[in-house]
Amino acid sequence: RYSGPRAAEILAKRNEFLSPSFFHFYKKPVNIVEGKMQYLFDEDGRRYLDAFGGIATVNCGHCHPDVVSATIDQMNRIQHSTVLYLNHAIAGFAEALAKKMPGNLKVVFFTNSGTEANELALMIARLYTGCQDIISVRNAYHGNAAGTMGATAQYNWKFNVVQSGVHHALNPDSYRGVHGSDGEKYAKDVQDLIDFGTSGHVAGFISETIQGVGGIVEHAPGYLPAVYSSIKKAGGLCIADEVQAGFARTGSHFWAFEAHGIVPDIVTMAKGIGNGIPLGAVVTTPEIADVLTRRCYFNTFGGNPVCTAAGHAVLKVIEKEKLQENAHAVGSYLKERLLAIKDKYELVGDVRGRGLMLGVELVTDRRLKTPAKSEILRVMEQMKDIGVLIGKGGFHGNVLRITPPLCFTKEDADFFADAMEYSLSNM
Ligand code: PMP
Repeated sequence: RYSGPRAAEILAKRNEFLSPSFFHFYKKPVNIVEGKMQYLFDEDGRRYLDAFGGIATVNCGHCHPDVVSATIDQMNRIQHSTVLYLNHAIAGFAEALAKKMPGNLKVVFFTNSGTEANELALMIARLYTGCQDIISVRNAYHGNAAGTMGATAQYNWKFNVVQSGVHHALNPDSYRGVHGSDGEKYAKDVQDLIDFGTSGHVAGFISETIQGVGGIVEHAPGYLPAVYSSIKKAGGLCIADEVQAGFARTGSHFWAFEAHGIVPDIVTMAKGIGNGIPLGAVVTTPEIADVLTRRCYFNTFGGNPVCTAAGHAVLKVIEKEKLQENAHAVGSYLKERLLAIKDKYELVGDVRGRGLMLGVELVTDRRLKTPAKSEILRVMEQMKDIGVLIGKGGFHGNVLRITPPLCFTKEDADFFADAMEYSLSNM
């Protein structure tokens, strides 16, 4: 039984003492007091199926016992800064993470967040190449510090930043993009940016493999191999931002970029790496990592013993509980159900994504693809009332984002799809 402060009191405190830029999706925001695997519980003990734990990103499930006990165990031994002394938790996790990477990607830099990981990746690319120009994809989200705000390309975040040295390429979006699903045509835009917007040399290219905040947009087939080839020819490094899509979420592969047959020069990660514990990482090759002997990168807590103990436990749980295979099986099943819903309801314009990273784009006119901005809020509110929490994203804010913990079952998928169908039928 929860006996702490109630939602109204917390909301009043939040309004008075916390950032005015905080937002929530519901008319009456939910006070979540406990979580267990794919379920969340509110102040009245009401249970919700969490289809948006991915934002945190609890790939193993809320309060997974193995991750909790590894974290507490390390907390009871020692918590300290990352850099000064030797510690097994840090080195052991770096080794385990390197083993999950393809090619010669084996040197790990730990950070506290996805933003810090991408900032560091951009700095490494600029140091390694001696160039400043970065190419990123429109509709991307890479973080909210100076460099990553520049690489993030959605005006509605209202970031206050000088966009120096960043070029934004056409988004290879099969649903809304100008070239449909022809990845190579979009890739030509990157070559044009290099040819007409730079000296011919660039520091690098950064992209999510599936845009998360941007509304679960997968890059059109053929895009990434063609872009990687252009960037390599221009002397740049290719950075894959796996902050949302990594750690088995996309099901078919452990890293989302692997589905495109490419090997990046630098991979950045956060969210799912620690199952909710603040942790991020940059992984690159020894040759590229060597540039940081010329510049110091110091981060007091990035990859501290407690967070890396959690990270190591996460890798073991993903393997032990076959969460990648589950994301593939349950995600494919759920996608089939969502596609069947699309056939029945005009409001659903597109269903996309992979594994347990799925998106449902709502439109009021399928031909004009008019974003269903108010309808989506009503669908979300009804789903919440039924007991399902879901996310929202996309440039127009009209895409339902489905990124549950990877322990989501087929029964959860059915309950989820039934709840969505019921809500759509009431519109
Ligand atoms: N990259 C991607 C793809 C993200 O989705 C996010 C967070 N939404 C970030 C980077 C930034 O991560 P953080 O909020 O941990 O700084």
